[in-house]
Amino acid sequence: MTAPAHARTSADLIRAEEPVLAHNYHPLPVVVARAEGAWVEDVEGRRYLDMLAGYSALNFGHRHPALIQAAHDQLDRLTLTSRAFHNDRLAEFAERLAALTGLDMVLPMNTGAEAVESGIKVARKWAYDVKGVPDGQATIVVAADNFHGRTTTIVSFSTDESARAGFGPFTPGFKIVPYNDLAALEEAVDETTAAVLIEPIQGEAGVIIPDAGYLTGVRELTRRKGCLFVADEIQSGLGRTGRTLAVEHESVVPDVLLLGKALGGGIVPVSAVVARREVMGVLGPGEHGSTFGGNPLAAAVGTAVVGLLETGEFQRRADELGLVLREGLEALRGRGVTGFRARGLWAGVDVDPALGTGREISERLMREGILVKDTHGSTIRLAPPLTVTADELRSALGTLEKVLEQAG
Ligand SMILES: *Cc1c(COP(=O)(O)O)cnc(C)c1O
Repeated sequence: MTAPAHARTSADLIRAEEPVLAHNYHPLPVVVARAEGAWVEDVEGRRYLDMLAGYSALNFGHRHPALIQAAHDQLDRLTLTSRAFHNDRLAEFAERLAALTGLDMVLPMNTGAEAVESGIKVARKWAYDVKGVPDGQATIVVAADNFHGRTTTIVSFSTDESARAGFGPFTPGFKIVPYNDLAALEEAVDETTAAVLIEPIQGEAGVIIPDAGYLTGVRELTRRKGCLFVADEIQSGLGRTGRTLAVEHESVVPDVLLLGKALGGGIVPVSAVVARREVMGVLGPGEHGSTFGGNPLAAAVGTAVVGLLETGEFQRRADELGLVLREGLEALRGRGVTGFRARGLWAGVDVDPALGTGREISERLMREGILVKDTHGSTIRLAPPLTVTADELRSALGTLEKVLEQAG
Protein backbone atom coordinates (compact mmCIF):
# COMPACT_ATOMS: atom_id res chain seq x y z
CA MET A 1 0.00 0.00 0.00
CA THR A 2 1.19 3.52 -0.72
CA ALA A 3 2.04 5.47 2.42
CA PRO A 4 0.06 8.69 2.87
CA ALA A 5 1.96 11.73 1.57
CA HIS A 6 2.54 13.15 5.05
CA ALA A 7 4.34 9.96 6.14
CA ARG A 8 6.85 10.08 3.29
CA THR A 9 10.22 11.78 3.26
CA SER A 10 11.37 14.27 0.62
CA ALA A 11 13.51 11.56 -0.95
CA ASP A 12 10.53 9.15 -1.04
CA LEU A 13 8.35 11.75 -2.69
CA ILE A 14 10.94 12.67 -5.31
CA ARG A 15 11.40 8.96 -6.12
CA ALA A 16 7.64 8.45 -6.27
CA GLU A 17 7.23 11.13 -8.95
CA GLU A 18 9.63 9.56 -11.40
CA PRO A 19 7.44 6.77 -12.85
CA VAL A 20 4.14 8.66 -12.78
CA LEU A 21 4.88 12.30 -13.52
CA ALA A 22 5.82 13.65 -16.96
CA HIS A 23 9.49 14.59 -17.03
CA ASN A 24 8.97 18.05 -18.52
CA TYR A 25 10.66 19.76 -15.55
CA HIS A 26 13.93 19.23 -13.69
CA PRO A 27 13.09 20.67 -10.25
CA LEU A 28 15.63 21.30 -7.53
CA PRO A 29 15.51 18.39 -5.06
CA VAL A 30 13.40 20.19 -2.44
CA VAL A 31 9.86 19.11 -1.56
CA VAL A 32 7.87 22.05 -0.23
CA ALA A 33 5.09 21.26 2.20
CA ARG A 34 4.07 24.65 3.59
CA ALA A 35 4.87 28.31 3.19
CA GLU A 36 4.24 31.77 4.53
CA GLY A 37 5.40 35.12 3.20
CA ALA A 38 8.87 34.81 1.70
CA TRP A 39 9.58 31.48 3.41
CA VAL A 40 8.83 27.89 2.49
CA GLU A 41 9.31 24.76 4.54
CA ASP A 42 10.08 21.29 3.24
CA VAL A 43 8.70 17.94 4.34
CA GLU A 44 11.41 17.57 6.99
CA GLY A 45 10.75 21.05 8.37
CA ARG A 46 13.82 22.75 6.85
CA ARG A 47 13.15 26.40 6.01
CA TYR A 48 14.18 28.18 2.81
CA LEU A 49 13.94 31.79 1.67
CA ASP A 50 12.04 31.76 -1.61
CA MET A 51 14.05 33.94 -3.98
CA LEU A 52 12.12 32.79 -7.06
CA ALA A 53 8.54 33.51 -5.96
CA GLY A 54 6.95 31.21 -8.53
CA TYR A 55 8.54 33.14 -11.42
CA SER A 56 6.75 36.24 -10.04
CA ALA A 57 3.43 34.48 -9.49
CA LEU A 58 4.06 35.05 -5.77
CA ASN A 59 4.86 38.78 -5.84
CA PHE A 60 2.87 39.25 -2.63
CA GLY A 61 4.47 36.29 -0.92
CA HIS A 62 2.97 32.95 -0.03
CA ARG A 63 -0.55 33.13 1.42
CA HIS A 64 -0.77 36.90 1.78
CA PRO A 65 -3.47 37.37 4.46
CA ALA A 66 -5.63 39.75 2.39
CA LEU A 67 -5.56 37.37 -0.58
CA ILE A 68 -6.24 34.26 1.49
CA GLN A 69 -9.13 36.10 3.16
CA ALA A 70 -10.60 37.07 -0.22
CA ALA A 71 -10.30 33.46 -1.42
CA HIS A 72 -11.86 32.01 1.76
CA ASP A 73 -14.76 34.48 1.64
CA GLN A 74 -15.42 33.65 -1.99
CA LEU A 75 -15.11 29.87 -1.45
CA ASP A 76 -17.89 30.17 1.10
CA ARG A 77 -20.18 31.94 -1.36
CA LEU A 78 -19.70 31.10 -5.06
CA THR A 79 -16.84 29.55 -7.03
CA LEU A 80 -17.90 28.95 -10.63
CA THR A 81 -20.67 30.00 -12.95
CA SER A 82 -19.07 29.78 -16.43
CA ARG A 83 -19.64 32.80 -18.63
CA ALA A 84 -23.05 31.43 -19.63
CA PHE A 85 -24.26 33.55 -16.72
CA HIS A 86 -23.02 36.73 -15.12
CA ASN A 87 -21.40 36.56 -11.71
CA ASP A 88 -21.37 39.29 -9.12
CA ARG A 89 -17.56 39.59 -8.92
CA LEU A 90 -16.49 40.15 -12.51
CA ALA A 91 -17.57 43.76 -13.07
CA GLU A 92 -15.52 45.09 -10.18
CA PHE A 93 -12.47 43.04 -11.17
CA ALA A 94 -12.57 44.38 -14.73
CA GLU A 95 -13.27 47.97 -13.65
CA ARG A 96 -10.42 48.10 -11.18
CA LEU A 97 -7.91 46.23 -13.36
CA ALA A 98 -8.64 48.54 -16.30
CA ALA A 99 -8.26 51.59 -14.06
CA LEU A 100 -5.00 50.26 -12.58
CA THR A 101 -3.46 49.75 -16.02
CA GLY A 102 -4.84 52.85 -17.74
CA LEU A 103 -6.68 50.79 -20.35
CA ASP A 104 -10.37 50.21 -21.04
CA MET A 105 -11.49 46.59 -21.39
CA VAL A 106 -10.56 43.25 -19.85
CA LEU A 107 -10.72 39.75 -21.32
CA PRO A 108 -10.30 37.38 -18.37
CA MET A 109 -8.45 34.11 -18.98
CA ASN A 110 -6.58 31.67 -16.73
CA THR A 111 -2.95 31.02 -17.62
CA GLY A 112 -0.34 33.27 -19.13
CA ALA A 113 -0.15 31.29 -22.34
CA GLU A 114 -3.90 31.69 -22.76
CA ALA A 115 -3.57 35.45 -22.37
CA VAL A 116 -0.88 35.46 -25.08
CA GLU A 117 -3.00 33.27 -27.38
CA SER A 118 -5.99 35.52 -26.74
CA GLY A 119 -3.93 38.64 -27.41
CA ILE A 120 -2.80 37.16 -30.72
CA LYS A 121 -6.41 36.45 -31.71
CA VAL A 122 -7.52 39.97 -30.76
CA ALA A 123 -4.62 41.50 -32.71
CA ARG A 124 -5.33 39.40 -35.81
CA LYS A 125 -9.05 40.18 -35.72
CA TRP A 126 -8.25 43.87 -35.31
CA ALA A 127 -5.95 43.67 -38.34
CA TYR A 128 -8.74 42.24 -40.51
CA ASP A 129 -11.71 44.19 -39.17
CA VAL A 130 -10.15 47.59 -38.49
CA LYS A 131 -6.85 47.85 -40.34
CA GLY A 132 -8.12 46.05 -43.46
CA VAL A 133 -5.37 43.44 -43.85
CA PRO A 134 -6.45 40.87 -46.51
CA ASP A 135 -7.87 37.73 -44.90
CA GLY A 136 -5.30 35.21 -43.72
CA GLN A 137 -2.32 37.55 -44.19
CA ALA A 138 -1.88 39.22 -40.81
CA THR A 139 1.59 38.99 -39.30
CA ILE A 140 2.83 39.57 -35.79
CA VAL A 141 6.39 40.74 -35.19
CA VAL A 142 8.10 39.25 -32.13
CA ALA A 143 11.59 39.36 -30.61
CA ALA A 144 14.29 36.70 -30.57
CA ASP A 145 14.86 34.95 -27.23
CA ASN A 146 11.26 35.66 -26.25
CA PHE A 147 9.31 33.61 -23.77
CA HIS A 148 5.54 33.79 -24.12
CA GLY A 149 4.44 30.31 -23.04
CA ARG A 150 4.21 26.73 -24.24
CA THR A 151 1.25 26.25 -26.59
CA THR A 152 1.82 25.11 -30.18
CA THR A 153 1.20 28.59 -31.61
CA ILE A 154 3.45 30.26 -29.05
CA VAL A 155 6.36 27.86 -29.50
CA SER A 156 5.96 28.49 -33.24
CA PHE A 157 7.71 31.83 -32.73
CA SER A 158 10.15 30.77 -30.00
CA THR A 159 13.85 30.81 -30.87
CA ASP A 160 14.65 28.23 -28.17
CA GLU A 161 15.19 24.89 -29.91
CA SER A 162 14.36 22.84 -26.81
CA ALA A 163 10.96 24.55 -26.68
CA ARG A 164 10.25 23.77 -30.37
CA ALA A 165 12.00 20.61 -31.47
CA GLY A 166 9.52 17.82 -32.07
CA PHE A 167 6.42 19.99 -31.80
CA GLY A 168 5.86 21.11 -35.39
CA PRO A 169 4.14 21.84 -37.71
CA PHE A 170 4.09 25.39 -36.51
CA THR A 171 1.61 28.24 -36.80
CA PRO A 172 2.59 30.69 -39.55
CA GLY A 173 2.25 34.46 -39.40
CA PHE A 174 5.13 35.49 -37.14
CA LYS A 175 8.29 37.44 -37.92
CA ILE A 176 11.21 37.34 -35.52
CA VAL A 177 13.56 40.32 -35.10
CA PRO A 178 16.40 40.86 -32.62
CA TYR A 179 15.26 42.29 -29.26
CA ASN A 180 16.20 45.87 -28.43
CA ASP A 181 16.70 46.70 -32.13
CA LEU A 182 14.39 49.44 -33.43
CA ALA A 183 15.95 49.44 -36.91
CA ALA A 184 15.13 45.75 -37.33
CA LEU A 185 11.59 46.41 -36.15
CA GLU A 186 11.23 49.30 -38.59
CA GLU A 187 12.22 46.96 -41.40
CA ALA A 188 9.95 44.08 -40.31
CA VAL A 189 6.72 46.02 -39.78
CA ASP A 190 4.70 46.43 -42.96
CA GLU A 191 1.09 46.81 -44.11
CA THR A 192 0.29 43.22 -43.06
CA THR A 193 1.51 43.73 -39.49
CA ALA A 194 -1.22 43.34 -36.89
CA ALA A 195 1.02 43.85 -33.89
CA VAL A 196 4.43 43.97 -32.35
CA LEU A 197 4.47 41.57 -29.41
CA ILE A 198 7.33 41.92 -26.92
CA GLU A 199 8.23 41.57 -23.26
CA PRO A 200 9.24 45.00 -21.89
CA ILE A 201 11.93 43.06 -20.00
CA GLN A 202 12.76 39.54 -21.17
CA GLY A 203 12.49 37.41 -18.04
CA GLU A 204 13.29 33.87 -19.12
CA ALA A 205 16.07 35.11 -21.38
CA GLY A 206 17.89 36.24 -18.22
CA VAL A 207 16.18 39.50 -17.20
CA ILE A 208 17.26 41.32 -20.34
CA ILE A 209 16.50 45.04 -20.04
CA PRO A 210 16.33 46.95 -23.32
CA ASP A 211 18.15 50.26 -23.79
CA ALA A 212 16.41 53.38 -22.53
CA GLY A 213 14.21 54.63 -25.34
CA TYR A 214 13.44 51.21 -26.82
CA LEU A 215 9.91 50.95 -25.45
CA THR A 216 9.21 54.57 -26.39
CA GLY A 217 10.53 53.73 -29.84
CA VAL A 218 8.28 50.68 -30.14
CA ARG A 219 5.32 52.82 -29.12
CA GLU A 220 6.19 55.55 -31.63
CA LEU A 221 6.87 53.07 -34.45
CA THR A 222 3.70 51.03 -33.96
CA ARG A 223 1.59 54.19 -33.81
CA ARG A 224 3.23 55.67 -36.92
CA LYS A 225 2.94 52.43 -38.90
CA GLY A 226 -0.59 51.66 -37.78
CA CYS A 227 -0.17 48.42 -35.88
CA LEU A 228 -0.74 47.43 -32.27
CA PHE A 229 1.82 47.35 -29.47
CA VAL A 230 1.16 44.23 -27.39
CA ALA A 231 3.19 44.14 -24.17
CA ASP A 232 3.59 40.77 -22.44
CA GLU A 233 3.89 41.81 -18.78
CA ILE A 234 2.99 38.40 -17.42
CA GLN A 235 6.30 38.28 -15.53
CA SER A 236 7.43 41.93 -15.52
CA GLY A 237 4.10 43.40 -14.46
CA LEU A 238 2.23 43.89 -11.19
CA GLY A 239 4.90 45.50 -9.04
CA ARG A 240 7.99 43.44 -9.82
CA THR A 241 10.05 46.25 -11.39
CA GLY A 242 9.09 48.98 -8.93
CA ARG A 243 6.15 50.12 -11.05
CA THR A 244 2.75 48.57 -11.62
CA LEU A 245 3.92 47.84 -15.18
CA ALA A 246 7.44 47.73 -16.60
CA VAL A 247 6.33 49.95 -19.53
CA GLU A 248 5.78 52.73 -16.99
CA HIS A 249 9.55 53.16 -16.70
CA GLU A 250 9.24 54.90 -20.08
CA SER A 251 5.71 56.24 -19.50
CA VAL A 252 4.47 54.11 -22.38
CA VAL A 253 0.93 52.77 -22.68
CA PRO A 254 0.60 49.78 -25.01
CA ASP A 255 -2.59 49.03 -26.98
CA VAL A 256 -2.81 45.56 -25.49
CA LEU A 257 -1.41 44.35 -22.19
CA LEU A 258 -1.00 40.71 -21.22
CA LEU A 259 -1.09 39.90 -17.51
CA GLY A 260 -0.93 36.65 -15.55
CA LYS A 261 1.23 35.09 -12.84
CA ALA A 262 0.88 37.52 -9.86
CA LEU A 263 -2.67 38.39 -10.94
CA GLY A 264 -3.74 35.13 -9.28
CA GLY A 265 -2.09 36.07 -5.99
CA GLY A 266 -0.27 32.73 -5.88
CA ILE A 267 -3.62 31.06 -5.23
CA VAL A 268 -5.40 30.43 -8.51
CA PRO A 269 -4.40 30.85 -12.16
CA VAL A 270 -5.70 34.22 -13.33
CA SER A 271 -4.66 35.98 -16.52
CA ALA A 272 -6.07 38.78 -18.59
CA VAL A 273 -5.80 40.66 -21.82
CA VAL A 274 -6.36 44.34 -21.13
CA ALA A 275 -6.80 46.65 -24.11
CA ARG A 276 -8.08 49.86 -25.53
CA ARG A 277 -11.80 49.80 -26.29
CA GLU A 278 -11.32 50.11 -30.09
CA VAL A 279 -9.13 47.02 -30.03
CA MET A 280 -10.99 44.72 -27.62
CA GLY A 281 -14.21 45.81 -29.30
CA VAL A 282 -13.46 43.48 -32.24
CA LEU A 283 -14.54 40.44 -30.21
CA GLY A 284 -18.18 39.42 -30.40
CA PRO A 285 -20.15 36.61 -28.72
CA GLY A 286 -18.93 33.14 -29.62
CA GLU A 287 -15.62 34.31 -31.06
CA HIS A 288 -13.52 33.56 -28.00
CA GLY A 289 -14.03 32.13 -24.55
CA SER A 290 -12.94 30.04 -21.61
CA THR A 291 -14.99 27.92 -19.21
CA PHE A 292 -12.96 29.08 -16.22
CA GLY A 293 -11.95 32.55 -17.40
CA GLY A 294 -13.42 35.21 -15.15
CA ASN A 295 -14.77 32.72 -12.61
CA PRO A 296 -15.89 34.31 -9.34
CA LEU A 297 -13.04 32.84 -7.27
CA ALA A 298 -10.46 34.12 -9.76
CA ALA A 299 -12.20 37.49 -9.94
CA ALA A 300 -12.31 37.79 -6.14
CA VAL A 301 -8.61 36.97 -5.77
CA GLY A 302 -7.70 39.13 -8.79
CA THR A 303 -9.64 42.06 -7.32
CA ALA A 304 -7.79 41.64 -4.02
CA VAL A 305 -4.48 41.64 -5.95
CA VAL A 306 -5.50 44.85 -7.70
CA GLY A 307 -6.40 46.21 -4.26
CA LEU A 308 -2.88 45.55 -2.98
CA LEU A 309 -1.37 47.26 -6.02
CA GLU A 310 -3.70 50.28 -5.72
CA THR A 311 -1.95 51.19 -2.48
CA GLY A 312 1.41 51.57 -4.28
CA GLU A 313 3.11 49.89 -1.32
CA PHE A 314 4.46 46.93 -3.27
CA GLN A 315 5.76 49.02 -6.15
CA ARG A 316 7.55 51.20 -3.58
CA ARG A 317 8.99 48.17 -1.81
CA ALA A 318 10.29 46.74 -5.11
CA ASP A 319 11.92 50.07 -5.87
CA GLU A 320 13.56 50.41 -2.44
CA LEU A 321 14.57 46.78 -2.05
CA GLY A 322 15.87 46.91 -5.60
CA LEU A 323 18.54 49.31 -4.36
CA VAL A 324 19.60 46.80 -1.71
CA LEU A 325 19.68 44.04 -4.35
CA ARG A 326 21.78 46.08 -6.78
CA GLU A 327 24.17 47.19 -4.03
CA GLY A 328 24.68 43.59 -2.94
CA LEU A 329 25.25 42.36 -6.49
CA GLU A 330 27.59 45.23 -7.27
CA ALA A 331 29.75 44.12 -4.33
CA LEU A 332 29.97 40.62 -5.84
CA ARG A 333 31.07 41.83 -9.26
CA GLY A 334 34.45 40.28 -10.01
CA ARG A 335 34.02 37.94 -7.04
CA GLY A 336 32.14 35.20 -8.82
CA VAL A 337 29.59 37.46 -10.50
CA THR A 338 30.64 38.49 -14.02
CA GLY A 339 27.64 40.72 -14.64
CA PHE A 340 24.02 41.31 -13.75
CA ARG A 341 20.94 43.10 -14.91
CA ALA A 342 18.40 44.34 -12.40
CA ARG A 343 15.25 46.40 -12.30
CA GLY A 344 13.17 46.69 -9.16
CA LEU A 345 13.30 43.48 -7.18
CA TRP A 346 14.32 41.38 -10.17
CA ALA A 347 17.78 40.41 -11.32
CA GLY A 348 19.53 38.12 -13.79
CA VAL A 349 22.94 37.30 -12.36
CA ASP A 350 25.71 35.88 -14.53
CA VAL A 351 27.98 33.64 -12.49
CA ASP A 352 31.54 32.92 -13.60
CA PRO A 353 31.10 29.62 -15.52
CA ALA A 354 34.35 28.38 -13.92
CA LEU A 355 32.46 28.27 -10.59
CA GLY A 356 29.71 26.02 -11.92
CA THR A 357 26.55 26.06 -13.97
CA GLY A 358 23.55 28.06 -12.86
CA ARG A 359 22.03 24.75 -11.85
CA GLU A 360 24.99 23.84 -9.63
CA ILE A 361 24.97 27.26 -7.96
CA SER A 362 21.21 26.90 -7.40
CA GLU A 363 21.73 23.50 -5.76
CA ARG A 364 24.42 24.89 -3.46
CA LEU A 365 22.18 27.83 -2.53
CA MET A 366 19.38 25.38 -1.81
CA ARG A 367 21.58 23.48 0.64
CA GLU A 368 22.20 26.86 2.34
CA GLY A 369 18.48 27.59 2.60
CA ILE A 370 17.98 29.85 -0.43
CA LEU A 371 15.76 28.85 -3.36
CA VAL A 372 16.58 30.30 -6.78
CA LYS A 373 16.37 29.01 -10.34
CA ASP A 374 18.87 29.15 -13.15
CA THR A 375 17.72 30.43 -16.53
CA HIS A 376 20.35 29.81 -19.20
CA GLY A 377 23.87 28.49 -18.73
CA SER A 378 25.40 30.25 -15.76
CA THR A 379 22.67 32.82 -15.18
CA ILE A 380 20.49 32.71 -12.09
CA ARG A 381 17.36 34.73 -11.63
CA LEU A 382 16.56 36.49 -8.35
CA ALA A 383 12.94 37.49 -7.89
CA PRO A 384 11.94 37.25 -4.22
CA PRO A 385 8.44 38.11 -3.05
CA LEU A 386 8.00 41.88 -2.78
CA THR A 387 7.23 41.26 0.92
CA VAL A 388 10.82 40.15 1.64
CA THR A 389 12.62 42.38 4.16
CA ALA A 390 15.88 44.23 3.50
CA ASP A 391 17.57 42.06 6.14
CA GLU A 392 16.36 38.84 4.52
CA LEU A 393 17.58 40.10 1.17
CA ARG A 394 21.02 41.05 2.56
CA SER A 395 21.26 37.67 4.23
CA ALA A 396 20.45 35.90 0.94
CA LEU A 397 23.12 37.97 -0.83
CA GLY A 398 25.55 37.02 1.95
CA THR A 399 24.75 33.36 1.31
CA LEU A 400 25.34 33.87 -2.42
CA GLU A 401 28.71 35.45 -1.59
CA LYS A 402 29.62 32.47 0.60
CA VAL A 403 28.54 29.93 -2.04
CA LEU A 404 30.56 31.71 -4.74
CA GLU A 405 33.60 31.94 -2.44
CA GLN A 406 33.43 28.22 -1.65
CA ALA A 407 33.11 27.40 -5.33
CA GLY A 408 36.24 29.42 -6.18
C1 LIG B 1 5.28 32.71 -17.55
C2 LIG B 1 5.13 33.54 -18.76
C3 LIG B 1 4.17 33.24 -19.75
C4 LIG B 1 3.31 31.99 -19.69
O1 LIG B 1 2.53 31.91 -18.56
P1 LIG B 1 1.92 30.48 -18.10
O2 LIG B 1 0.99 30.85 -16.99
O3 LIG B 1 3.07 29.64 -17.65
O4 LIG B 1 1.23 29.92 -19.28
C5 LIG B 1 4.03 34.11 -20.82
N1 LIG B 1 4.81 35.20 -20.92
C6 LIG B 1 5.75 35.51 -20.01
C7 LIG B 1 6.56 36.75 -20.18
C8 LIG B 1 5.96 34.68 -18.91
O5 LIG B 1 6.90 34.97 -18.02
